[in-house]
Amino acid sequence: SLSARTPFIAGNWKMNPGTKNEAIALGKEIASSFSDSTPCEVALFAPYPFLDATVGAVGSSGVKIGAEMAFVEEKGAFTAAVSVSMIKSLGCNWALAGHSERRCLFGETDEDINKQVLNLLNHDVGCILCIGETQAEYEQGLVGPICTTQLKKNLLGVTAEQMANVVIAYEPVWAIGTGLTCPASEAQDVHATCRGVLADMYGAAIADTVRIQYGGSVTPETVDELMAKPDIDGALVGGASLVAEKFSRIINFKV
Ligand code: PGA
Repeated sequence: SLSARTPFIAGNWKMNPGTKNEAIALGKEIASSFSDSTPCEVALFAPYPFLDATVGAVGSSGVKIGAEMAFVEEKGAFTAAVSVSMIKSLGCNWALAGHSERRCLFGETDEDINKQVLNLLNHDVGCILCIGETQAEYEQGLVGPICTTQLKKNLLGVTAEQMANVVIAYEPVWAIGTGLTCPASEAQDVHATCRGVLADMYGAAIADTVRIQYGGSVTPETVDELMAKPDIDGALVGGASLVAEKFSRIINFKV
């Protein structure tokens, strides 16, 4: 079926690169490979200290810059936390929420992530909500139930109207940073399941408009097959987004 969903590919730099100058160089190089013939929307998620410089580096290229998470409070005594208004003031209108590293390494719960999502949307900032099962859950055949639970808990209270600002990233935890890409046909099945959950929550018409990205060891070698699948609307790319040549090929995927 023909979908009106504009593909969306994002780079998640995580705690990389090491210096501001490297971030500027990487941002410039990626921006220079983004052109009118690039078949997707592109965003880069950079560490807080580099956000301002990366916004400058990509300039008017059209590449969007976002934060890797935003804390739920507006301001005050929250040492080391960064608010949505702070990132917005730098020209960043996107943020990730619920990345597996935030869930696993920093103890963010489904409730925490739900608050982050609502806070971003209430500030009119676009949100990439990351979901996905762990290796153990995968082995137990729990992919569908885990994704369903995360979508329902993390999107609690999000209105149908606000879903226009939400992108889902399905990222099987066992595929993140491991070189093990989920086979495209398997990812397609999970994306279709997720879209079905969104249809239950918001109706089929809304569910049809929500972009669902795949994440987990996406490379120039795997992107084309993934993007050919009907319910895979983009990618969230970690490691390969730190190598300009690789990320440039990924965003200019062949349809
Ligand atoms: P990866 O990371 O591409 O290095 O597997 C993806 C992610 O964590 O978003």
